[in-house]
Amino acid sequence: MKIAHFAAAALAASLPLAGFGGPHAMGISVTAIVGATVIHPERDAATAAVPETVIVAGDRIVAVGPASSTPVPRGAKVIDAKGKWLIPGLIDSHVHFFQSGNLYTRPDGADFGKYMPYEKEVARNKARLPATFKVWLASGVTSVVDIGGPMWNFDMRDAARASPAAPRVAVAGPLVSSVDRVALDLGDPPIIKASTPEEAVALVRRELARKPDYIKVWFVFTSAGDLPKQEIVVKAAGDAAHAAGVPLAVHATELATAKAAMRAGADYLVHSVEDEPIDDEFLRLAKKNHILYCPTLFVINGYQYAFSGTWKPTEAEKRLGDPQILAAMDDLRKMPGDAIPDGIRKLMANPPHPEPGKVSLANLRRVWDEGIPVVMGTDAGNVGTLHGPGVFREMEYMTRAGLTPLEVLRSATTNGARAMRMERDIGAIAKGRYADLVILDADPLASVDNLSHASLVMKGGKLFTPEGLMKSL
Ligand SMILES: [Zn+2]
Repeated sequence: MKIAHFAAAALAASLPLAGFGGPHAMGISVTAIVGATVIHPERDAATAAVPETVIVAGDRIVAVGPASSTPVPRGAKVIDAKGKWLIPGLIDSHVHFFQSGNLYTRPDGADFGKYMPYEKEVARNKARLPATFKVWLASGVTSVVDIGGPMWNFDMRDAARASPAAPRVAVAGPLVSSVDRVALDLGDPPIIKASTPEEAVALVRRELARKPDYIKVWFVFTSAGDLPKQEIVVKAAGDAAHAAGVPLAVHATELATAKAAMRAGADYLVHSVEDEPIDDEFLRLAKKNHILYCPTLFVINGYQYAFSGTWKPTEAEKRLGDPQILAAMDDLRKMPGDAIPDGIRKLMANPPHPEPGKVSLANLRRVWDEGIPVVMGTDAGNVGTLHGPGVFREMEYMTRAGLTPLEVLRSATTNGARAMRMERDIGAIAKGRYADLVILDADPLASVDNLSHASLVMKGGKLFTPEGLMKSL
């Protein structure tokens, strides 16, 4: 009786049901995850890991607590997670679905058009979206922020929402840019140059019609003399976005452009400051703007590995990467010599040994210590950075800045929920949140590598296994 009463109370608290009669009334499925060590990344180390029962009804968590006071509702499906760990679904706050991660996806960086025309690559990426959605879930990533792409990005968001096996997707449209990228323009370009405030506002208005989650500016440093003029263009874009209630995300990888971006109203810095140590003015602006800071430490190295023919999949990428992309990463070996650009040939003859940038690591440490919310983001889709398991490379790099596994996990969940603009709905294991959960076979607070060992992934109450998702590709 007590159990039935509990179920009714728990569900009535979260669902607007009249005359509720049990877990399966109205077709709502109830799942109880029992025996797991539940990780609460928003808490400090002493209280972050606790043995608890989690009850899910429909797409939401309806109860979390000690087994003694959290009975399993009658008729619930029970998942025995004894000896396992339960974390909130991971959030990658910086991805691009118009890019695949293979060698052909950025012809403005290296043009392999003789071997693989860019048109074919883009058509492949569009057709492959259902599989790309699945590799994210298989890696335990239940939400991603696509921070810029062609106008078809908005259709991609619709497709993700309509698909049962897809992460939640927040999206920005074409990048409002200080430079041109003609190689990427097939009629629906991902990057559009705006030289004046008027051009920037016109582009932002066109995007606002599609209800973007962000307006994104690609603020590429050209010269110190140009900077003040560029800042005015960024501010015009930001003001137009803010007037519509949409936040401004900015790509700015130098201290000077990052500060100019924040003066212009940036809410989200999507990369590290890479060129010099951040200073007090940076920190003042970051706090004033309540900035989110995404380090994207691996993405540069991904290009270096891939373009020198030294890219090798990690153990997690072998299991959880899209097999089409993994196969294509070996193409440099098969390609006829005349299809390989000169710059690539030089890199192959003298391959670099990439490491995370020292300045970027030091800046991540300082930003974290100053209490500025850091979000985990891979920039997935760029050459050498895979959708899905690319997150495990990025999280390992973040630990090299001295962040603990718990701090990295907080970046990839609690803080990521802010980048998704869903901080009340995702990012924590708490009553009322969406049931976006990952069951792990190994302790994620012992090592971030253990985050790649999921046995079950739940998104909005729906259960998946990584193996099942990968087999279905
Ligand atoms: Zn990016």
